[in-house]
This record gives sequence, C-alpha cells and structure tokens, in this order.
Amino acid sequence: MNEAEIKEIRQKLVRLRSELEELEQVSRETGETVELDQTRVGRLSRMDAMQGQQMALEAGRRRRDQLVKIEGALHRIETGGYGDCFVCGEEIDARRLSVDPTSTRCMKCTEK
Ligand SMILES: [Zn+2]
Repeated sequence: MNEAEIKEIRQKLVRLRSELEELEQVSRETGETVELDQTRVGRLSRMDAMQGQQMALEAGRRRRDQLVKIEGALHRIETGGYGDCFVCGEEIDARRLSVDPTSTRCMKCTEK
C-alpha cells in the first residue's frame, strides 16, 4: 500500500471512531433514562422493553469491540506496521483493507 492509500484509510478510521464515540455517548445518556415502569406496562411490552435493553447492551458491546480494533489500526498506522498480517507478516490485500480497515490477517491466514 502506498502513502495515499494509508492516508485515506486513516481518515476513514478516524471518521468511524468519532461516529462510534458519538453513538456511545448518546446510548449512555438514553440508557440512564430508560427504566422499566412495571406498574404501567403490561407483561408483553415489559418483555419488549427487556429485549430492547438486551439488544442495546449487545450493540454497545460490539461498538466498544470495534473501537478497540480501530484504535489498534490507528496505532499501527502511526508506528508503521499497518497492513501487515499478524500471523505470517505478509501484506494484507488492499481491497480487503478497504472493506475492513481493521483487518489484522491476510486472506490466507483467515481461512486457516
Ligand atoms: Zn497471513
């Protein structure tokens, strides 16, 4: 990968990170205000609400995973190891990185 490609990926990662951080912020704020009102909601809607909460938790977990991956990729861009496969050390295909800029393995090592 050349410098221009890496620069583009870096911008993409930074943008993605701020989007995720914003979502995280919003869900933290709304999460605090969402409470189950057991006296007013019926059994079914209570289950809906619980399911909704579960999904929100799951989405939050995925978001934080993604943030960790993005931080890692940005760190590798800064330190120069970006785009190298963690397993075999070969360069990861640029097309693969453009689909998922946080990839840490080449196609071959992922398939193993
Ligand atoms: Zn590899």
